[in-house]
Amino acid sequence: MSETAHEKTQTVRAQRGQSLRADCANCFGLCCVALSFSASADFAIDKGAGEPCPNLQSEFGCGIYPRLRQKGFGGCAAFDCFGAGQQVAQVTFAGQSWRQAPHTAPQMFAVFTVMRQLHEMLWYLNEALGLIPAGALHAELGAAVENTERLTREAPDALTALDVATHRDGVNALLSRTSGLLRAEAGGPKTGKSAPRKAPSPGADLIGAKLRDADLSGSNLRGAYLITADLTGADLRAADLTGADLRAADLSGADLSGSFFLTQSQVDSAVGDSATRLPPTLSRPTHWSR
Ligand code: SF4
Repeated sequence: MSETAHEKTQTVRAQRGQSLRADCANCFGLCCVALSFSASADFAIDKGAGEPCPNLQSEFGCGIYPRLRQKGFGGCAAFDCFGAGQQVAQVTFAGQSWRQAPHTAPQMFAVFTVMRQLHEMLWYLNEALGLIPAGALHAELGAAVENTERLTREAPDALTALDVATHRDGVNALLSRTSGLLRAEAGGPKTGKSAPRKAPSPGADLIGAKLRDADLSGSNLRGAYLITADLTGADLRAADLTGADLRAADLSGADLSGSFFLTQSQVDSAVGDSATRLPPTLSRPTHWSR
């Protein structure tokens, strides 16, 4: 039986999803060098941009990888480059590392920061394509994917000169429309007795909020600060969780099965249990069972 156009689109989307997963074996430890970190609960030491982490080994492996959380580097365990590392290493710089060619290092690190943003946009757009399987918005999302993928294939000079902020604004506007459509289809934020008195808004400060068993389905939690929030048993179906900060938020027993724009990195930074329901594309972090 031949594939329908819809099946072909979903096959391409699944393949793209694979390429938007970090493949550290084909990277040059770029996140461990290019980015700067300040000593915090997520990263045990100060490290400047372009300075290799002392735990980075000669073949670009991490010397403490199995014990990142115990050693105070939980932020590394939750970090996701969305496949930007292998794209920069193997495509943009054709497999030649910054150690083999030290003169390329500054440009390679600058390209990585741009590429990571492009790949992150692609991840959201690819998710959106699966959530909006047809119609005008689907076509716009497809065009945005093509345009962004074209940018990821540019040469190093073009990538460092790219106006990423402007490109991101266009992508964000499209993703906001996607979110609005999906949440409206789900009935929007709820008003029953388990709903919060005031519907949470994008970017809301909900640090440490007590939202146990709250009905947050259909809410727009884009960019919300939910650090250490108690979300045990909360209903987050059809909630937009784009960029929501879920560090140490308690998701035990929460239902995120139909939430969208939720990344593995966000889930990894939270705590949960065997009763937490996740979207099918995400996996239950192993540290939840410890
Ligand atoms: S601790 Fe490991 S994963 Fe984190 S930056 Fe250093 S080498 Fe990379």
